[in-house]
Amino acid sequence: MSVRTLRIGLIPGDGIGKEVIPAGRRVLEALPAYLKLKFEFVDLKAGFEAFEQTGAALPEKTVDILKAECDGALFGAVSSPTQAVKGYSSPIVALRKKLDLYANVRPVKSVMTAVKPIDMVIVRENTEDLYVKEEKTYSGPDGKVAEAIKRISERASFRIATMAGDIAVRRQRLREDGASSIHKSPLVTVTHKSNVLSQTDGLFRAASKSALSAARFNGVTVEEQIVDSMVYKLFRQPEDYDVIVAPNLYGDILSDGAAALVGSLGLVPSANVGEGFAIGEPCHGSAPDIMGKGIANPIATLRSVALMLEFLEEPAAAAKIYAAVDANLEAGVLVTPDLGGTATTEQVVEDILNKL
Ligand code: ATP
Ligand code: MG
Repeated sequence: MSVRTLRIGLIPGDGIGKEVIPAGRRVLEALPAYLKLKFEFVDLKAGFEAFEQTGAALPEKTVDILKAECDGALFGAVSSPTQAVKGYSSPIVALRKKLDLYANVRPVKSVMTAVKPIDMVIVRENTEDLYVKEEKTYSGPDGKVAEAIKRISERASFRIATMAGDIAVRRQRLREDGASSIHKSPLVTVTHKSNVLSQTDGLFRAASKSALSAARFNGVTVEEQIVDSMVYKLFRQPEDYDVIVAPNLYGDILSDGAAALVGSLGLVPSANVGEGFAIGEPCHGSAPDIMGKGIANPIATLRSVALMLEFLEEPAAAAKIYAAVDANLEAGVLVTPDLGGTATTEQVVEDILNKL
């Protein structure tokens, strides 16, 4: 088999993004040779610092290079100014739009020895729902009224549910290849509120069910959950869930809630995924309070690297990284202060590289 070369855009952004993205690069460079992967890296700008330097939070060059040259990317974090700054808007939101990264995928996993082990993935639709941002305010007989459009399409619902099904199948394959997990068989939970919103969420539900009835998902159990009861069950029995698929807003809320269940933002990865392109992105922000101290937890980023590799069809490389991270966490010795340890970013990265 010949060696596959992957070209990866590196967008550290601001704050601890600059401390954790280099760790992501190192882990890719340290993957064993038998995986037959080679990586090339392109350093790209985005974020608040880029905005101050160039006048653009997402320079056109960054988008052009990602589109024309890269197979995938790693995005660190960007600071969001506390007061609105004229001309500044979030570059990751813009990137999702420009590259049609229609899915936000967030795995949430605890150490397997936890009292309540958790191993789930939340698959959030990333392009529509209330996030079409079509709002207006007007005056009615009783004063000011504000409205927002909640738009759900059959196409976007179908494709996000298809992705959830594919993820469930792939996770099952990884388990069969020896990945640690609490689940024995694949499950997709479709989340909505169609008892109240019969048209919008009703369409999401119908399109999701139709997508998940495809023959290749025969081995996947499909269930549904009204979103409020989903929250209740997610907090009481998180161990029951494998893959959860949701429209944009519910997915946003569920994924932050689920992240809280595993203790530190520094552990939770995500990926923004479109057709043939994936950007790995830790769920945390730029963490200005710990920036420059060398103690940021690199695990969210390293897991985001693995997640990106999964979507670039390199499951064996992804599994290697997940296993090394799990081994570090299970040993519990070299961990950063957010997890109660005293290790530095560098020490954690070294330990994980050794475990690779
Ligand atoms: P931003 O505006 O960029 O989101 P923030 O102030 O909201 O910045 P977050 O990055 O969202 O900060 O982090 C919230 C809290 O979690 C902070 O106290 C931060 O130090 C902590 N935290 C976030 N990421 C990590 C990490 N990788 N390692 C350790 N602690 C982290
Ligand atoms: Mg934040």
